[in-house]
Amino acid sequence: MSLGSGPLMNAHLHQEEALQCERLAAITSSIGEGVCAISRTGRIIFVNPAAVEMLGWEHLDELHNLANIPDGEPGPMAPSFILAPAMRSMSTARSVVSDDSRFQRRDGSQFDVAFTVSPIAGEDEPSGAVLIFRDIRERKEIELQLTRDAFHDALTGLPSRRLLLDHVDHALRRAAHSGELHAVLFADVDRFTVINDSLGHHAGDALLVAAAQRIQASLRPGDMVARVGGDEFAVLLEGVDDATDALDAARRILDGFREPFSLPDGHDVVTSVSIGVALSAPGESRDDVLHDADVAMHRAKATPGGGHVELFDVEAMGTRSAERLDLEAALRHALVRGELEVFYQPFVDLNDGSIVGAEALVRWHHPTRGLLAPAEFIALAEETGLILPLGHLVLERACQQARQWREELGVELTIGVNLSARQFQQAGLGEEVQEVLELSGVHPSQLCLEITESLAMDDVARTSEVLASLKALGVKIAIDDFGTGHSALGYLTSFPVDVVKIDRSFVDGVDCDPVKSAIVSAVINLSAAIGSTTVVEGIETLAQLTHVRALGCTTAQGYYFARPGPAHVLEAMIDASEEQGVDSRYREGSLASGRAR
Ligand code: C2E
Ligand code: MG
Ligand code: MG
Repeated sequence: MSLGSGPLMNAHLHQEEALQCERLAAITSSIGEGVCAISRTGRIIFVNPAAVEMLGWEHLDELHNLANIPDGEPGPMAPSFILAPAMRSMSTARSVVSDDSRFQRRDGSQFDVAFTVSPIAGEDEPSGAVLIFRDIRERKEIELQLTRDAFHDALTGLPSRRLLLDHVDHALRRAAHSGELHAVLFADVDRFTVINDSLGHHAGDALLVAAAQRIQASLRPGDMVARVGGDEFAVLLEGVDDATDALDAARRILDGFREPFSLPDGHDVVTSVSIGVALSAPGESRDDVLHDADVAMHRAKATPGGGHVELFDVEAMGTRSAERLDLEAALRHALVRGELEVFYQPFVDLNDGSIVGAEALVRWHHPTRGLLAPAEFIALAEETGLILPLGHLVLERACQQARQWREELGVELTIGVNLSARQFQQAGLGEEVQEVLELSGVHPSQLCLEITESLAMDDVARTSEVLASLKALGVKIAIDDFGTGHSALGYLTSFPVDVVKIDRSFVDGVDCDPVKSAIVSAVINLSAAIGSTTVVEGIETLAQLTHVRALGCTTAQGYYFARPGPAHVLEAMIDASEEQGVDSRYREGSLASGRAR
């Protein structure tokens, strides 16, 4: 307001007070800001209607018509919240500004204001001051709401990821001096997608709210639990003694999930959480600790059945950040320097031992570390987005290879290409695949895209949509690592799946473990019922081969036949089988002796 921000020029306020106040009244009668003029002695000589209303001064007769107070007769003393800044303004002859103060109404209640007080210039010194103020309750409420939104999750009321990050930062800074140990737990609700999809979002929301309460109830009062993703919660345990402390907390959370959840529409559901635990170490950043907890959680999640806890272990689960950065830079170079090679591992027809296809499996010829398997770099590629160019390269090479084999060897092999989560979620995947098919000249039916079961189950509706668009191109779809993603067998029927690849964990011991044998048998029968082929992964022994064949499996892959190897090794195997006739070789078991490296 111009009125309050610059001194009012009036050399003889005493004489001209009436005129002054009239002018003030004329200017300020209709504005929303409160305006209040104070004399040099701290008396109120003017208030506008807005100020009267805001301050609740309606019934203070002495405050009305202050301009008519006879000369020399003092008005009421200004209350201290006005007097103090007015006096400061007069004594310094400068404006005093506040963005956030509290004024008091006549009835004693308080309200938030922003104000400006400016001195009224007198002959030698200020002859008074004019204060202009505004009710900022609304602004404060918006600000409060914004902070609440930023720091709290609307559904569960729990702290948000941001607030958790702040607390982890703070805890780590303190630990740098005190040497304290902190733990971060990542908990992911098992089967959440299935429950959410089958019972609806309303039930899913209710489950998340109840899960949040149970997690909170399992913790000590000072521990912090935040919702950090759709069905992901993170817990900060400050000042733990050792890993046992943190693991105990994780087990208490698991115990909290033993009872079923009663959802509002009458459904009782049982679920669990998979928990990753990481401890802070000196010099670690919050990103390091959170990353470790996340990695451990994914480990826990990968153990079939749900409800597992994993403690992060540097040896087993990952290298430290600096090394990761080096690896990332090296992988970027690898892509342009041609250090990546596609290996092939055959799919074998168990009826006659012929090679009917091959899975494309990427390898990295690292300049100093030698030949690296995907386990050493695929996760990093996924995290950094490098999986997109990498995946494209594998797809392109594999398709070119399949066409070359068709032309040169006269065999039409099915080529399995793995799709990562990022690739699968990327818009335009269909177009990319179509372009590669066209450029390479491979028959679409020769390409079989493999997606893991857990990826397929992540968002069932979206999976169906993407798979349908890929199917429309004429390619085949395989569900990879089947049996590790906690899904019900029946779920398979919702996807247009051509091949179900049973995870190798079920094959290991299938010949002596009746439970594994029963699972493999059930999957083979179910796949057959929905018109899919089962491929058993990871056949290493003749005993396993004989067993799965007896269960009705028709196609298999595994070290028993061949390890993944360069294209020329597979070519040699195909050549050999052409010459010798697959039937006889297979019966004699000599395919095993022709293993690729
Ligand atoms: P996957 O798709 O399930 O591939 C099968 C893995 O099992 C391969 O490991 C293969 O070498 C291994 N394997 C096959 N037979 C046997 C056996 O008899 N015994 C044992 N112990 N293992 C066997 P590999 O090549 O190390 O690949 C590991 C994973 O990395 C693959 O699992 C796949 O998920 C991923 N991967 C490989 N290449 C690519 C790629 O180009 N793109 C993407 N996105 N992922 C890839
Ligand atoms: Mg695969
Ligand atoms: Mg697999």
